[in-house]
Amino acid sequence: MKHCISKFRILLFLVFLLTACQQVNSSRNSGIIHTVDGPVKVDQLKFTLPHEHLMSNFGKDPGEATQYDEAALLRQVIPYLRKIKSLGVNSILDCTTAYFGRRVDLLKKMADSTDIQIVTNTGFYGAADDRYVPEFAFSATAEEISKVWIREFEDGIDGTEVRPGFVKLAFDDGMPSEIDKKLFTAGILTHLNTGLTLAVHTGNNPEAVTAQLKLLAQYHVSPEAWVWVHAHLAEDVQLLLSAASAGAWISLDGAKESNVQEYINRMEKFKSQNLLHKILLSHDGDGFPMGGEIREFEAIPRHLIPAMLANGFTEKEVDQITVRNPKEAFKIRTRRTE
Ligand SMILES: [Zn+2]
Repeated sequence: MKHCISKFRILLFLVFLLTACQQVNSSRNSGIIHTVDGPVKVDQLKFTLPHEHLMSNFGKDPGEATQYDEAALLRQVIPYLRKIKSLGVNSILDCTTAYFGRRVDLLKKMADSTDIQIVTNTGFYGAADDRYVPEFAFSATAEEISKVWIREFEDGIDGTEVRPGFVKLAFDDGMPSEIDKKLFTAGILTHLNTGLTLAVHTGNNPEAVTAQLKLLAQYHVSPEAWVWVHAHLAEDVQLLLSAASAGAWISLDGAKESNVQEYINRMEKFKSQNLLHKILLSHDGDGFPMGGEIREFEAIPRHLIPAMLANGFTEKEVDQITVRNPKEAFKIRTRRTE
């Protein structure tokens, strides 16, 4: 019963947001996104994978997270990226954050040797029991944290000229913690200052969804600025559809050869409600997970797209999801509701 009431309240709240968001007003609409090689017009993005990891040290101690066997890494990832490029992929958003392995110098080397557009991120990863949240964030205010991310947007990351193309954040399972909410608030402040989209690891967590939508509403930011990351794990499809109707981006980012039918079924629900324009597709692959073997990111071009076409999706719909949606989701612009 308690669960039903809370679900009902979430739905009511989404209806409220839907009404509020009908007058989204976009400012700082530059029509660009920052790749590791500088700003490009979003129209140049083409087929984009919005949630992959070219490498990560997720699982390692944060103090060692930036250390890689660089020669081995480049030897493994560059040929793989060339293969991905030959499958039609043009752009990849790298979701490895600071403190679990972000290295923009290596991303730049990969982009320069493969001609794939690579986009990196700012933000801190608040899942994994906050293991990858830096110590200072626990005592800092949301505004102080946002200044670190805004500085990366304005001045570049780690002394380079590479600027982030989005903000990556994460919520742990269960009721949102103070630090998760504070990091999300810092994300909103960053969005308002920079126009960067917030991609937030949320998964199957309705409480985290509610907390995020409430905070967005409190700061008069549209759900269009927010990506529900790992939304394929959400059990409540109705909640996904309602969030999408309110403007949120729904990231189905665990595609594999083995779950193609599951993805088709889920996308058909979106199609029946004219919501294909809110879906993002990716694999959450990893080119060099703690120095290990590649976790593949090729099932979408190799298996899912052919299956979509065989199941009644048109070329235009595939193009909508894999090309037009990522452009629209990550185009730098502030998205206010008033
Ligand atoms: Zn990921």
